[in-house]
Amino acid sequence: MKRLVITLSIGLLAVLAIVAQGSINKRTNNSHGARSKKLPRIAICGLGIESSTFSPAQTDEAAFHAKYNDDVFSTYPFLSIDSPLRHRAAWIPTLVGHALPGGIVTRRAYESLVKQTLDMLQKKLPYDGLYFDIHGAMSVVGLDDPEGDFIQRIRKVIGTKTIISTSMDLHGNVSWRLAENTDLITCYRLAPHEDAMATKKRAVENLINRIESGKGKPRYKAYINLPILLPGEKTSTRIEPAKSVYAAVAPAAAQPGVVDAAIWVGYAWADEPRNHAVVMVTGDDKQTVTKTAERLAQGFWDARAGFAFVSPTGTLAECLDKAVASTKHPFFISDSGDNPTAGGAGDVTWTIQEILKRPEFQSADGPSVIYASIPGPELVAKAEAAGVGNIVDGYAGAKVDSRYAPPVHIKGVVESIFKGDIDAEVEVAIKVGSVHIIVTKKRKPYHHERDFTNMGLNPRKTDIVVVKIGYLEPELYNMRADWMMAITPGGVDQNIERLPYRRIERPMFPFDKDMPQPDLSAKLVPMSDKL
Ligand SMILES: [Zn+2]
Repeated sequence: MKRLVITLSIGLLAVLAIVAQGSINKRTNNSHGARSKKLPRIAICGLGIESSTFSPAQTDEAAFHAKYNDDVFSTYPFLSIDSPLRHRAAWIPTLVGHALPGGIVTRRAYESLVKQTLDMLQKKLPYDGLYFDIHGAMSVVGLDDPEGDFIQRIRKVIGTKTIISTSMDLHGNVSWRLAENTDLITCYRLAPHEDAMATKKRAVENLINRIESGKGKPRYKAYINLPILLPGEKTSTRIEPAKSVYAAVAPAAAQPGVVDAAIWVGYAWADEPRNHAVVMVTGDDKQTVTKTAERLAQGFWDARAGFAFVSPTGTLAECLDKAVASTKHPFFISDSGDNPTAGGAGDVTWTIQEILKRPEFQSADGPSVIYASIPGPELVAKAEAAGVGNIVDGYAGAKVDSRYAPPVHIKGVVESIFKGDIDAEVEVAIKVGSVHIIVTKKRKPYHHERDFTNMGLNPRKTDIVVVKIGYLEPELYNMRADWMMAITPGGVDQNIERLPYRRIERPMFPFDKDMPQPDLSAKLVPMSDKL
């Protein structure tokens, strides 16, 4: 009996405990709900790619590696679960996609990604803010100014009250339409883009600050169209004049009455009217905003004749002659015309064909060379079947861009096979004479030391390292004993004056060298609620 009472008591306590727990849960949910209502609701979306219209390559939807919903957070370390920014808003990530630079995006891919984004945004309305994470140099088949089109369609869904903050690459293009539809806008201040994540974070912080403070949209957006079009490889901020032109941006943005300031070099390998340099400054003080934009624009214009390639340049033969004769190793050579990170197809074989013809590299004890890289899925499959240490014989490259040379014949020893890279998927090193050729299943840029060491190659101990790249990314730059940029053919030919432009605005520097002084006065872009 006593035992029964105890059992009943325990049972009653358990029931009470469950009820109590339930009411606690309910309270927690309620308080969480109340808190969420106070936090600003901020959506995240965006697509990033720079795509060349001078390359025969096309980019499909899969290339964007789209992330959905909460997976989007992994793109932004500053929004990790325990970061302060994460707790200042109720975030609604939708779709964010970033592709390697490449050829023009198919219309089907663009429409699909945009429609998915708009559908997701529609389902979770309304928003106090929207973070629009774009590169700004996307080209789409049959559509001008895709980022302008995208943001306009976003506005149709979310309305004009939501504050949009846009972050971009400084090689992106800012159309008037994009400027009208966004409220805050900024871009990188360094090339190479070591401040990419800091820029995105600034765009998000500015957005939250404007919402939290109740200041809302900046009252003024100054816009200046600079008739300058330069290849990125002439505008590295490591050297003058871009170093000084860009060094003026952060102090300009820090002035009272200014929210942000930005200079876009623009993207040289697409033939559209929007492709040119732009300056924008946003803020609440009309005088400071416009004068600051004019000062930054004048600084860029005055410096225009000083922009030169970031390294000594030459034909490939000149670069190879110098590298072979040099005592400085590793001697880097940029195979710049087909640079996949600028929008080249990445499979032009012209350069590797020329290297394989050189007598110095015919025997295994010649000057050591690494060539990175050439896509050749069939050759990669053959190398996997043959295995490390065995001979493989086949062709690679020129599937997409065969305008300059046909597929390259490679017969050599398989040195290593590496699997698991997100871009390349499978990479093999094949030794032909004294040349280690990296052949990939899919195209991949080689920017880091580990890209080589993963495959058992040691670029520091190699005489000559040839990479499909423009300016060297930091790890390679710091490793170089010497460096030249070879002006090689491809979809991102660095000699832009020989590209067949038809639609860019003229006059334009450097195409019209004797052009008159352009109007560099700031135009005020209408606020997005006036659209
Ligand atoms: Zn860039």
